[in-house]
Amino acid sequence: MNYFSLNNNATAVGFEKAVRLGLAPDRGLYFPQQITPLPDAFWDKFLGMSRHEIAFKVIKQFVGDEIPQDNLMEIIEQTLTFDFPIVELDKDIATLELFHGPTMAFKDVGGRFMARCLGYFNRSSTEKVTVLVATSGDTGGAVASGFLGVEGVEVIILYPKGKVSPIQELQLTTQGKNITALEVTGVFDDCQEMVKTAFLDESLKKHRNLTSANSINVARWLPQSFYYFFAAQELMKRKVRNPYAFSVPSGNFGNICAGFIARELGLPIAHFIASTNQNDTFPRYMENGIFEPKKSVQTISNAMDVGNPSNFVRIAKLFNQDLFRLKNVCSSYSFTDKETNIAMQEIYKDYNYIADPHGAVGYLGLKKYMEKNPDHYGVFLETAHPVKFLDVVEKAIKKKVEIPPQIQKILNKKSKKTSIESYQDLKQYLIDHAV
Ligand SMILES: *Cc1c(COP(=O)(O)O)cnc(C)c1O
Repeated sequence: MNYFSLNNNATAVGFEKAVRLGLAPDRGLYFPQQITPLPDAFWDKFLGMSRHEIAFKVIKQFVGDEIPQDNLMEIIEQTLTFDFPIVELDKDIATLELFHGPTMAFKDVGGRFMARCLGYFNRSSTEKVTVLVATSGDTGGAVASGFLGVEGVEVIILYPKGKVSPIQELQLTTQGKNITALEVTGVFDDCQEMVKTAFLDESLKKHRNLTSANSINVARWLPQSFYYFFAAQELMKRKVRNPYAFSVPSGNFGNICAGFIARELGLPIAHFIASTNQNDTFPRYMENGIFEPKKSVQTISNAMDVGNPSNFVRIAKLFNQDLFRLKNVCSSYSFTDKETNIAMQEIYKDYNYIADPHGAVGYLGLKKYMEKNPDHYGVFLETAHPVKFLDVVEKAIKKKVEIPPQIQKILNKKSKKTSIESYQDLKQYLIDHAV
């Protein structure tokens, strides 16, 4: 499988190169040269397949022969060590819980898969790799956990100061070992911009061998299609009614874009809802056909505070820049913090279920779509565990949330971070601390 740059100004590369580079030299995102739907033989056996088998078949064409079958299977087994339950809340609404991994957000899947791919590619190399990653809250923790203690890999996380939740900040700053946290004065988009600039800074290349672990990296982005398959398989087993609508709380749009890939591969999900907070660049685009990024604003669903979603270009490509085709498959709505708080209360009161603010945004989008499309069975993605947003959730539902062991264990750890203000600061840090 080859990947080409969506800026069309760089040569196509194989999977390994795409993973190592993260972003193409022309600053474009990599995109697979072809996407082949899974064959009938796959669908004939689909309901009886294990999750590991499904994941293997799904990712195989994207990896090509660059990782031998046995190693790829091992990577999948080590990535998918936790569950992806579907919890039904009502007769036609369920939530897909994606927070059972070590850092309790859906990003563990991509983070763990990517870390192991890079580990495989570096198996006999003595050269150190620096993974540079911008986070709006959850990516950093997932990537840090995926790479913790991996030989030859150093992880540097950039996060917006004061704009991640206290527990997220602990997950970023207490790992130690090969993980470093840099707190940036600014918003997530500033962090993302710094990372992109660093990749293309020729003068850094003699100090550092950089790669990215944001959803711009294909090894982070593509495995996120796995759980759409697991979810659809489960719905089919339960024989719930067709068609299925999936609502995805979206920020940088990597998750929903992986859902679209699953659909390209033949997965029968009829409709997607891109649910956003007040950072509404995508829903505005769906309204008027103009993609006009805005500076991100801070909300209670902070992991979606993205004003310029990177994966938009991939979505545009998937639908051939055709807004009409996109609208057939996807709807998009934006919600305020007030609506999100009310949704958390409603979900708790009506279904005795505690949703986090991101899941609540997903719920709102699903409800809105199903008002007009009541024939669908709806699933909203619970992208993080409510404990990651403890203050917000407890305030909304007026009840204490139980702290799971993954989080309990970091509460008393010592936090360590360095503050930076500009790209120059980042560059200086990377040079001064290079090994
Ligand atoms: C990252 C994140 C999102 C947004 O996902 P994208 O792939 O960036 O659209 C939503 N919810 C949570 C909890 C997240 O951590």
